[in-house]
Amino acid sequence: MTMKIYLNGRLVPENQAKVSVFDHGLLYGDGVFEGIRAYHGRVFKLDEHLDRLSRSARAIDLKLPMTPAALAQAVIKTCRANDIQDGYIRLIVTRGIGNLGLNPYTCRTPQVIIIAGAIQLYPQKLYETGLSVITVGTLRNHTEAINPRIKSLNYLNNILAKIEAMNAGCMECIMLNPQGFVAEASGDNIFAVRGTTLLTPPSWCGALEGITRQTVMELAPEQNLQVREQVLTRYDLYTADEVFLTGTAAEIIAVVKADHRTIGRGRPGPVTRRLERVYRAYAQSAGTPLA
Ligand code: PMP
Repeated sequence: MTMKIYLNGRLVPENQAKVSVFDHGLLYGDGVFEGIRAYHGRVFKLDEHLDRLSRSARAIDLKLPMTPAALAQAVIKTCRANDIQDGYIRLIVTRGIGNLGLNPYTCRTPQVIIIAGAIQLYPQKLYETGLSVITVGTLRNHTEAINPRIKSLNYLNNILAKIEAMNAGCMECIMLNPQGFVAEASGDNIFAVRGTTLLTPPSWCGALEGITRQTVMELAPEQNLQVREQVLTRYDLYTADEVFLTGTAAEIIAVVKADHRTIGRGRPGPVTRRLERVYRAYAQSAGTPLA
């Protein structure tokens, strides 16, 4: 089936969904985006994603051409047009067409693109065995260079880290910030479990304010787990009982090896597995209805 793509107010067949070679999104990675999930006919945390998109746009001085309410309607319309009940939605706002210079103010009209398609998860087996990760040499962007709270189209920092990880035979990595503190993975947030406490780096350490991270923080107290944002070093990961990653596409996935060291017992631990279950149950029962 041909996908229908939302492009600036219209739904067009995928082979006609095209943007200009002069779009600064392409020329410079100048734009913002969100990755959103639909579960069982509902869009999960849609308002939270739209809030983050608005903040990202503000942070790069890009004026969103639509209100959050109109964007929400556009997301819903795109899901409906593609008969999506369970899926992954990519909402992109590029700076728009400009000239070959850097000046973003030559770009008059931001482009809004919505792609609603199949989900991309890690293979199921990895949820059962857990991930092996390595710390990479590529540092997370300095917060005063590109603030990692901005979910921008410029992902080269993460891609360079991913290249290092893949070449070392790992699907994910640990990125440190310029001070040597743990920031996040290349496309997911990170948590360490110590007893009944979940520890995760604050965003100023170089972490995106992940929606899944936030959801885990909200679900934790009901599970008699405490959550603390804390500066973490690799020591904290190596000595943790459990480590896991969170992200919209990945949900919650255990990390069982870091830098070839075994974490905890070397398999997904009880806290991670419980959170995985609780998260899935919650995600499948909440959200903005598509019907
Ligand atoms: N960090 C980075 C760098 C990401 O790209 C993402 C999203 N894939 C995350 C963390 C997780 O954020 P969220 O839970 O909002 O998907």
